Amino acid sequence: MRGTLFQKVWDAHTVRKLPNGQTQLFIGLHLIHEVTSPQAFDMLRARGLPVRCPQRTVATVDHIVPTRDQRRPFSDLMAEDMLAALERNCRESGVPLFDLQSGAQGIVHVIGPELGLTQPGMTIACGDSHTSTHGAFGAVAFGIGTSQVRDVLASQSLAMDPLKVRRISVSGALAPGVYAKDVILEIIRRLGVNGGVGYAYEYAGDAISRMSMDERMTICNMSIEGGARVGYVNPDDVTIDYLRGRRFAPSSEAFDRAAAWWRSMASDPGAAYDDEVRMDAALIRPRVTWGINPEQSVFVDERLPAPGDVPVESRASVAEALDFMGFGAGQPIKGTRIDVAFVGSCTNARLSDLREAARVVRGQHVARHVRALVVPGSQAVRAAAEREGLDRVFTEAGFEWRGAGCSMCLAMNQDRLEGRQICASSSNRNFKGRQGSPAGRTLLMSPAMVAAAAVAGEIVDVRDFSHAD
Ligand code: SF4
Repeated sequence: MRGTLFQKVWDAHTVRKLPNGQTQLFIGLHLIHEVTSPQAFDMLRARGLPVRCPQRTVATVDHIVPTRDQRRPFSDLMAEDMLAALERNCRESGVPLFDLQSGAQGIVHVIGPELGLTQPGMTIACGDSHTSTHGAFGAVAFGIGTSQVRDVLASQSLAMDPLKVRRISVSGALAPGVYAKDVILEIIRRLGVNGGVGYAYEYAGDAISRMSMDERMTICNMSIEGGARVGYVNPDDVTIDYLRGRRFAPSSEAFDRAAAWWRSMASDPGAAYDDEVRMDAALIRPRVTWGINPEQSVFVDERLPAPGDVPVESRASVAEALDFMGFGAGQPIKGTRIDVAFVGSCTNARLSDLREAARVVRGQHVARHVRALVVPGSQAVRAAAEREGLDRVFTEAGFEWRGAGCSMCLAMNQDRLEGRQICASSSNRNFKGRQGSPAGRTLLMSPAMVAAAAVAGEIVDVRDFSHAD
């Protein structure tokens, strides 16, 4: 029987069918962090249960870490308490923790892949929505809530409902200045923020096959913003080359055996899908969100819609978004003045993202009125960027060069917007208040577009930007 990767991974990890119709699914890798795990550990302790598979559980600290001064104890006592609780829980349960001293700390969805923990054919769960990122490797990876974190800690399995599979094929070539971020924003614009509910998204087509693993991670990362709990790309040579030599990937003959199995998990030619969508990469231009959800975006050379331009069911949300953002219907997005520029997050803070942003700002300077930050996704990304001299490119251009963490993606540390500030951001959510100020405004875009906006002081088209070659 020809199957999709989703079906093959699901079947390979099915423990049993539960009486309520759900599937008890074995979880190959459980990633935890300081925000959603403390309560789960407390619940386990209250029931006298140990962590079932500490060797399949990996922890890091990302959401609350300060990115400027990381000396302990943190000045933010709540952050200090959360990290101390994670340290205690990991120590007592034998779970490895990649902490600030490890050299491998970072955003959970950045370090899993770079350590080679994330592998094709796996089931991966984490108490964070953007766990879909790991699907870039051909894993079935999804975010879970705190009570499910407890369940996985206790049993290394979860009760789950299966998903339908929608194949999204992107064919053709992306134009220069157009990135994976623009592709996923266009997918979400087209299918809607709820379009993926009940689906796993399989990203296919030659435009996706040509992408690096970093780019595939950007695409899969934002699946959840389109309502799809799972997003994946079938494993291929790019996947296998990326994993070779990684710290926790198999080595020598074991690697070759694993690679053969990884390839066998890819969707078969002729597999049946519940839905198929086709897109032309050549039609995609740089995109910028203008509203309060990731569906509300336009190409950089377009104007904002009026409520009357959209289907009846979307009119109220367009009106609400225009009102919150203080934007007028029909105004161009280009020329929107920004106050803050943020290059960071699990969507776009990998080395290739930093390289693209640096390419734009090299020899330039951040506009006088703009505060600009680069927050690498991990300590490894930061170190690699420093080896290439990217830190100097950024600091000479007037960016702040920070330690690794989630930072202004959701502002659980001191990095936050103030008042009505507008932020050009390479992150993944533009919800009201997401970046720390209830009135703050977020415009999502690619890291290169953020860099160009930082220098220009307003939204510009990176394709016109004279220093982007
Ligand atoms: S960078 Fe943002 S989206 Fe990613 S894990 Fe951190 S808070 Fe979540």
